[in-house]
Amino acid sequence: MTIPPDTAHALHDAAREPARAELLEGERISDDIINCLPGIFYLFDEGGKMLRWNENFERVTAYTGAEIAAMSPLEFFGAEQRETVAGAIARALTEGVASVDAELVSKDGRTTPYLFSAKRVVSNGQRHLVGTGTDVSERKTTQAALAESEQKFRQLAERVEAVFWVSDLEKNEMVYISPAYETVWGRTCSSLYETPQSFIDAIHASDRARVVAAFALQAEGKYDETYRVVRPGGTVRWVRDRAFPIHDESGVPYRVVGFAEDVTELKRANEALEALNRDLERRVAERTAELASANERLLHDAFHDALTGLPNRALFMDRLGQALARETRLPEDAFAVFFLDFDRFKEVNDSLGHAAGDALLRAVAERLEGCLRPADTVARLGGDEFTLLALEVSNLDEVAALINRLKAAFAAPFQLKGQALSISASIGVVLSRALSGVDYAHADEVLRDADFAMYRAKAQGEGGHAVFDSGMREQALARTTLESDLRLALARGELRVHYQPIMATRAGTKGAGFISAEPNDMASKATLAGFEALVRWQHPERGLVSPAEFIPVAEEAGLITEVDRFVLREASRQMVAWQVQTGAALELSANLSSASFARADLVAYVADVLRETGLAAAQLKLEITESLLMDDAPVVSAALDGLRALGVQLHIDDFGTGYSSLAYLQRFSAHTLKVDRSFVDKMTQSPESAELVRTVVAMAHNLGMRVVAEGVETAAQLAQLEALGCEYVQGY
Ligand code: C2E
Ligand code: CA
Ligand code: CA
Repeated sequence: MTIPPDTAHALHDAAREPARAELLEGERISDDIINCLPGIFYLFDEGGKMLRWNENFERVTAYTGAEIAAMSPLEFFGAEQRETVAGAIARALTEGVASVDAELVSKDGRTTPYLFSAKRVVSNGQRHLVGTGTDVSERKTTQAALAESEQKFRQLAERVEAVFWVSDLEKNEMVYISPAYETVWGRTCSSLYETPQSFIDAIHASDRARVVAAFALQAEGKYDETYRVVRPGGTVRWVRDRAFPIHDESGVPYRVVGFAEDVTELKRANEALEALNRDLERRVAERTAELASANERLLHDAFHDALTGLPNRALFMDRLGQALARETRLPEDAFAVFFLDFDRFKEVNDSLGHAAGDALLRAVAERLEGCLRPADTVARLGGDEFTLLALEVSNLDEVAALINRLKAAFAAPFQLKGQALSISASIGVVLSRALSGVDYAHADEVLRDADFAMYRAKAQGEGGHAVFDSGMREQALARTTLESDLRLALARGELRVHYQPIMATRAGTKGAGFISAEPNDMASKATLAGFEALVRWQHPERGLVSPAEFIPVAEEAGLITEVDRFVLREASRQMVAWQVQTGAALELSANLSSASFARADLVAYVADVLRETGLAAAQLKLEITESLLMDDAPVVSAALDGLRALGVQLHIDDFGTGYSSLAYLQRFSAHTLKVDRSFVDKMTQSPESAELVRTVVAMAHNLGMRVVAEGVETAAQLAQLEALGCEYVQGY
């Protein structure tokens, strides 16, 4: 046992008293043990004599061992605490144990809070107190800090809008709730302290079970619930409630601090935002769908003909290109292309109007579709041109069968505006390599050859067909050459006018003041009434070209008005010149194509020509085809009115070849009908044709019109026409 030098005296003194020494020995308290204690150790007797203490005691009190040995236990405390300490000592002596909180005062006046505990021990009939003291200054400051922070928390909690709350986990009750509770929940804080259940009752019935179940998560810090609170008045607030646990020194949670915010506005704003978003998404989706269908429509429109709904040229060419490519890979996959052009379709359009023309095209498309096999394509290229691509054609018999099917499809007439209308197609056919040996690299070449073949078919007469051969290419080329040559011809003045006499029969001279002409070889009884001007082309290489050849080309190339106007001016000039020479006022018949007639400046042009040449309006007859009669176009009606006002008469040319009926003639004050050459031709051979001419002449007369018969070549024809009452004849 080591004894600090300061205490040696005290021990020495104690050792002189045998009982005390024995006690010390008996207790076997080693210095090592008491010095190892974390707190202070002390032993004193009933009389207040300090007997033992450890190093900590000396360090904390700052007294030396000798000084301690001379002090009584109460001297280590401030005056105000001595009573409490004395009470505890007395309790320990009588009851055996006692503990007390007191502040130990050191030699230099420092105070340190201690928790003392003492135990009574009896030795040799004398009571002693042995005990320890634990420094509790840390705990004290913690408590003070806690009190202070609680105070601060309260002040803070009571100022913010959010609801702060503290609950005790062990007792499972609300310890504190901030006043904002009253605003959000619509209930007083005190009512919550009195009836804790009211907190749960206030939660909306639909949210309650979920929230209550989540309470269990509070101790883990995972409680975060948004729920509805129903206020006593019935209004509902949305609350977001979160909680964080507070742990004691050993890490066990004993309290929960919560934080509940009123998120009603936020929630509403969010809901409005979500609704807005949903609306936006819906609109975007709608717009996207619209665009998609518009795209689809555009795509469809880009590849289909608007009138008939059939594939258009672009789609047809695409399919044709595919067929070409397929045949290259699989030579047995031969195909055939059919190019259809309807004969005299333009006339239907001109005579029945465009609406009827469109209806006819739709009906035509429908019949064509009826001729298809599943893999075939029928397309409308434009106008009255249709094409058909037949795939997997293995032999020429199949091609022939398809041509027959096409022709049969148009055998029955169409019903248009209550009229039965027969229309035939000219069909050009191109066979692919396997069937023809002709090697095509591009779809364009195939279509071009089909077009050539169609022209050949047309040349052979209405409703015909032709299969392409290379000779056709040259012919078509010649046609293109003709067109460019015709432009040059107009510029170079290669057009000439021939004059064919029109003779008045005896029926025609009755009451009419025609001059007598020299008797000709056809009929001595007829007198000259006038001339029809007929255009000729003096081609530098080809010689005289017939109008039958170049008029259709001029019409297609848009050159016809120039031709017609040249003839009109030239012939008028010639008539006046002859009139000056002979003194006879002759009538002039000039031909006008539909395109020339439907020109807004026609009347002005005719008036110009009359003024410039000096030809009287009454001497001029304009020959137009019957198809014009049914054209409702304002420009046509205006031309009719204008010419009538000028005093120019109109002749209906080629009557009987078009679709007009006599009923139309009434609407239109034409002066004369020209019966087509084909009728006159057949008249002498078949009684029916003769009857037809008789009917036409009779009806014309009924309508106050005169009749010119065209193509009169024989005396028999003249005699017959005269007998029928035909006023004029024209022909070789
Ligand atoms: P069109 O107006 O019917 O003219 C009558 C045609 O029949 C003329 O043919 C004439 O030569 C022919 N012809 C007259 N008598 C006989 C006959 O007894 N037997 C035969 N076989 N034929 C006869 P051309 O001159 O070849 O004219 C053909 C067509 O060309 C004309 O038919 C007319 O539609 C058109 N044409 C002629 N000149 C003009 C013109 O200046 N402008 C317009 N737009 N067309 C014209
Ligand atoms: Ca004519
Ligand atoms: Ca004619």
